[in-house]
Amino acid sequence: MKQYLRQLPAIHELQKDPRFKSLETEFNLSDVQLTEFLQKEIGKLRQSLLAEETLVKEKVPDFAGQLFNLVEDRISEWQKDRLERVINATGTVLHTNLGRSRLSATSIARVVKTAENYSNLEYRLTEGKRGSRHDIIEDLLVEATGAEAAMVVNNNAAAVFLVLSALAKEQEVIVSRGQLVEIGGSFRVSSIMEESGARLVEVGTTNKTHLFDYEQAMNEETAMIMKVHTSNFKMIGFTETVETAELAALAKKHHDVIFYEDLGSGALYDFKKHGIGDEPVVREVIESGADLVSFSGDKLLGGPQAGLIAGKKELIARLKKHQLARVLRVDKMTLAALEETLKQYLGDPEKINELPTVRDIIRPAAAIQVQAQSFVDRLQSESSNYHSELMASTSQIGGGTMPGVEIPTYVAAVKHHSLSSEQLAARLRRAKPAIITRIQDDRVCLDFRTIENTEMMALVAGFVACE
Ligand SMILES: *Cc1c(COP(=O)(O)O)cnc(C)c1O
Repeated sequence: MKQYLRQLPAIHELQKDPRFKSLETEFNLSDVQLTEFLQKEIGKLRQSLLAEETLVKEKVPDFAGQLFNLVEDRISEWQKDRLERVINATGTVLHTNLGRSRLSATSIARVVKTAENYSNLEYRLTEGKRGSRHDIIEDLLVEATGAEAAMVVNNNAAAVFLVLSALAKEQEVIVSRGQLVEIGGSFRVSSIMEESGARLVEVGTTNKTHLFDYEQAMNEETAMIMKVHTSNFKMIGFTETVETAELAALAKKHHDVIFYEDLGSGALYDFKKHGIGDEPVVREVIESGADLVSFSGDKLLGGPQAGLIAGKKELIARLKKHQLARVLRVDKMTLAALEETLKQYLGDPEKINELPTVRDIIRPAAAIQVQAQSFVDRLQSESSNYHSELMASTSQIGGGTMPGVEIPTYVAAVKHHSLSSEQLAARLRRAKPAIITRIQDDRVCLDFRTIENTEMMALVAGFVACE
């Protein structure tokens, strides 16, 4: 194949080819950029001819045509979004793999404004002096949680790490064996504790831990009692855990022992009102006497990824001063999104539906049914390759929140006339935007709890394109 090397076109020839300009226009590239793409592809073609990997059948191969095709593929591959938008048709509102919470429109607007401009992130406007980003939205956090003080770090895993490192290093932390959980994506309470330098003292058994178990483990080395939300699993049957108020009271009896609760999700909205789960709202936990709590920004709260820590002023002050607070700090866009999210909780309760996460969780099944039915009808009229029908089902909340809670929903259950459900689901994942479904009883099911009306067209188009 080496004899073909001399037939490879020169760059200046390719640059004169009309296809050169048309690719530039199509992909909005400069001469220099397109030339670089072409050089790379020629280089690869040359290598493969040398290595005898490319088989050439023609006597006079159309290398130029081949190169322009290769370059076109390469450019569109390069230009596409890596972090891609998807349609979440799983009905799981807090799908960790799909990015958890969607932000509200006002949060998004604030993120854009903050990204576009300079801000007072670490600047006190009245004094013209350096300020701290840890103070920027503290008043809102305090108002929302009822705690004395609060701060924000990168995520809740970071919050747990900071609390343990700053307040319990080389000291003992008592945790119930029933709460030494592992949360999806490698967050293990026991490992985080080990990394932080705190010594874990396990008490009780897997299914039962009593107040006296904690009492007996307390000594002068005890820095903290920690309670962990058993996020992604639910124990049923012969179980016992100690209530927040009892643990808080026990910690109080021992001078200097901190009671810290990792809430995982940390709801500010009372979903119990709608008969959904039994998640305490953060304010209730603070009122029960917790010295410190931490929770995620992008789980039930429905904001950006963040770890929120709230509690006693003196403890928060120590956390803010710790070196790790600098390591784990959040970006200005996170603070902007979080500020708007918190304002939505503190504002008009009627407008709580403007937070997509809250709205989707409490969304009535009847509204979902209407949407699912309209999809079934539209798919039927657009394509004869599918059989689809409305089916009652349940959605999960996800994100390691409210384990075991199933909320009634409606799905469109779809079968393709020749593709298997797995094949269809795989094709839907390659649609633009990708459509992520769940398979149930050998049917591709779309749970409309997590689908916006504005996504309906793209959804139907995605199915039609799969034929
Ligand atoms: C989800 C969760 C975490 C981790 O929170 P991230 O915000 O995802 O870092 C920690 N602890 C508990 C109990 C959780 O449920």
